[in-house]
Amino acid sequence: MILVFLALVLVLCIAQRNVTYTKQERILSLLEEEAFTAPLGEQEAECLLVSDGSDNGTKGAEMMGEILDQMRVPWEGCQVEEFAGKDLDSYEKLVFSADYLGPLSDSLLSVIDWVKDGGSLMLLYPPEDDWGFRSLYSLLGIARLDGERAYVEQIHFTENFMMGGEGKEYGITDAYESSLNVTLTADCRVYLDSGGEASAPLLWRREAGEGIVVVDNLNFLDKAYRGFHSAAYTLLDKAEAWPVINGSTFYIDDFPSPVPGGDGGRIREDYDMDIADFYTQIWWPDIYNLGEQYGIRYTGLVIEQYSDQVEVPFERNMDTQRYEYFGNLLLDAGGELGFHGYNHMPLCLANFSYQGMFDSYRQWASYEDMRAGLQELNDFCREVFPEEEFAVYVPPSNILSEEGRQMLARDFPQIRAVASVYLPGSLAFEQEFEVAEDGIIDTPRVISGYILDDYMRLAAVSELNFHFVNSHFQHPDDVLDVDRGADLGWEELYRRISDYTEWLYTSAPSIRNLTGSELAAAVQQYDYLDVKRTLTDTALELELGGFGTEAWLMIRINEGTPGSVTGGELTQMAEGLYLLRADEAHVVIELQK
Ligand SMILES: [Zn+2]
Repeated sequence: MILVFLALVLVLCIAQRNVTYTKQERILSLLEEEAFTAPLGEQEAECLLVSDGSDNGTKGAEMMGEILDQMRVPWEGCQVEEFAGKDLDSYEKLVFSADYLGPLSDSLLSVIDWVKDGGSLMLLYPPEDDWGFRSLYSLLGIARLDGERAYVEQIHFTENFMMGGEGKEYGITDAYESSLNVTLTADCRVYLDSGGEASAPLLWRREAGEGIVVVDNLNFLDKAYRGFHSAAYTLLDKAEAWPVINGSTFYIDDFPSPVPGGDGGRIREDYDMDIADFYTQIWWPDIYNLGEQYGIRYTGLVIEQYSDQVEVPFERNMDTQRYEYFGNLLLDAGGELGFHGYNHMPLCLANFSYQGMFDSYRQWASYEDMRAGLQELNDFCREVFPEEEFAVYVPPSNILSEEGRQMLARDFPQIRAVASVYLPGSLAFEQEFEVAEDGIIDTPRVISGYILDDYMRLAAVSELNFHFVNSHFQHPDDVLDVDRGADLGWEELYRRISDYTEWLYTSAPSIRNLTGSELAAAVQQYDYLDVKRTLTDTALELELGGFGTEAWLMIRINEGTPGSVTGGELTQMAEGLYLLRADEAHVVIELQK
């Protein structure tokens, strides 16, 4: 027995030592600036975004401005007081972000005429019920309004108009009396409601004369909801087009890294193993197989060791066996490795305050020490994985100081992408998907972990539809941390992440699986892309500027169906929603009645 056991141990050791990998070609690489065609230049504003000075009005207008910019819709903003002086006929679309419409007074009458003559009006969130709003009831299709607002706890899809929506409900974590309780006229088409028996419509569209009105009654104006508001905006026309990233990326933070000793969470109880064995025998095979099932190519972020050393000299971690084992398996499956840290101390100096939130974190003794720490990680990684490029940086705990960011841009030119977080959080380095001014590509991670609660799922469906992106990160030690679901046990956590991937790849089978640096390349192409739309009775014509080697756009067709396409190819994603792969800078999509 003992001999058999020893033989097995020996075989396992040899197996772990001898995992090799073949270097994989990246399917998408960053381009030089010269590779892009010229931008289109200034376009006349197509949308007028009107805000009152209220908290919600301002917040809504800021959010909508960001959405319109990213959809490459030329727009102009104005305050309620300036509205009377605007020539409505020079705009196609009007978006109100205001608590009260009364102050628009007589202008509202011209808005009604303008819509009936072919203009498009959207209410970004429900206003208070003053005389101004009431004067728009019949235009907006409101038959009756109940004074009490609806306490909305979920978003239910009544139309399959967004990816991942069909027949689904998405829970809302911070429910409040948000939305109008309305009875609508029969000519309104409801896309979202609050579900259940006393269901309130959350998004509806009505054709009024030659024009269109859209009421976005959701009233959650945070970043995680952008995809719903952008979808609402796309209902304002016969057809709409906006650039997207088309990428799905899964990051594994702290991987490879030294494995904590001992037992953790429910692992001993559930598997009769220590953490090291659990990672090797259960966690990694599960995650690896999940990747294989969907074609996910993970991006692992290396930590050399877990000391709190913040001053030179930085000792080399000589115990590289597990790095080679996990790293080579990940790379051989088409994955990528990036930097997380020499240790887990965020790149912050003495002037940075952790605001009492991270007791175990220390600031680096000096800029030079901070740089030497990352340099040591670089040297270590190059020794263990000599063929890899390490172009992605993920900040520990999503914290990155200004000096840290400058250091990455200046002293580590190989780092082309920083992947921090998309959604706001305390101390978090928040990002947009863009090429930043320092030349680094910001590729934020949108969701994380294995719990995947209502908020995560909502953010996921929102971003899938807004940017056509999935960006998720996990840590092996999520399984050990009670706040990240340890008490649920790995079986349940694995069920949840599998459930998420199943949802993602069923909702968007054509989304591309990309590694971190490939996603950065996709973001670069997306960020440079410029769009000019021309809508005629029979076609949607797109002229693209800032065209690199590829361009992806979402196309919404609200009336009719697409006919022949020149300059690209359409794939249907939901009802009236198509993914366009543009092959040329000029695309014509024929619209059939
Ligand atoms: Zn980490």
